[in-house]
Amino acid sequence: MKWLDVQLTEKLQWTEQHFSLRFHAPEFHFKAGQFVRVGLLQADGEVLARPYSLVNPQDSDLLEIYFNIVPEGPLTPQLAALQPGDALKLAPRAAGFLTLDEIPFEQTGCKHLWMLATGTGVGPFLSILQSGEAWRRFEKLVLVYSVRTQQQLAYHNLIEQLTQQHPQQFHFVPAVTREIAPGALTTRITTTLESGELEQRVGLQITPQQSHVMMCGNSAMIRSAFTLLEQRGLKKHLRREPGHISTEKYH
Ligand SMILES: Cc1cc2nc3c(=O)[nH]c(=O)nc-3n(C[C@H](O)[C@H](O)[C@H](O)COP(=O)(O)OP(=O)(O)OC[C@H]3O[C@@H](n4cnc5c(N)ncnc54)[C@H](O)[C@@H]3O)c2cc1C
Repeated sequence: MKWLDVQLTEKLQWTEQHFSLRFHAPEFHFKAGQFVRVGLLQADGEVLARPYSLVNPQDSDLLEIYFNIVPEGPLTPQLAALQPGDALKLAPRAAGFLTLDEIPFEQTGCKHLWMLATGTGVGPFLSILQSGEAWRRFEKLVLVYSVRTQQQLAYHNLIEQLTQQHPQQFHFVPAVTREIAPGALTTRITTTLESGELEQRVGLQITPQQSHVMMCGNSAMIRSAFTLLEQRGLKKHLRREPGHISTEKYH
């Protein structure tokens, strides 16, 4: 692979384990919701890289990724140790299908977009929510963001700004599972989906007639939520067979 050379512009630290990295990549094209491989040159001359969703709006030259340290993982401790000015490798192209143009609006007529995220899986949804298209396409947009502790609810200023800009159209539902946080659901996404608490809180029902559901993050959450949604008649979306559920599994 021919890697692009970029320099870290800024590092944000949200918790001891959670970071965002920003770097300039002029003329880099991607669609909101996609990911790109980011890497570091190793002592043996090889590039160690992993895929990361882009958090920034798609018309920005300043790319941003959001990640947590996996202590036993080879790349994330190195990414977390970077300082502004340090070199990074970037794959020349973004990839992934968690994008608005993959949603079969014409076939399913969906009006509501539900975005269910665990942890750093919120990243692609923040990029989508910063695109004008999302607000033009959907009557309602719901972001459900599940983390363990309140401190892990990163990007709260951006989410607050979106809430103020779209008070009727946007519903933000934080879920904090390991401590009590004001205004947040206290159990996992799948538990609140199963009990009906999530839809009650938002005031909307998830149905095949009106909803498209995107899920991103932990694969156990995605698998369980998928089963619950299938029981309500929603289907996995495939290009050859339009459906209502799109997913991106991180781990
Ligand atoms: C399409 C795609 C997009 C991704 N986008 C993001 C992103 O935007 N932000 C992000 O933080 N991660 C993202 N990931 C995961 C990321 O690519 C790395 O796997 C992760 O950052 C760990 O890298 P590592 O080299 O330190 O460990 P790895 O060798 O990649 O993983 C070591 C172990 O940790 C598990 N693991 C991976 N990610 C996590 C995690 N977040 N929490 C706990 N365990 C984990 C792996 O399954 C594996 O068992 C994405 C993965 C995929 C497939």
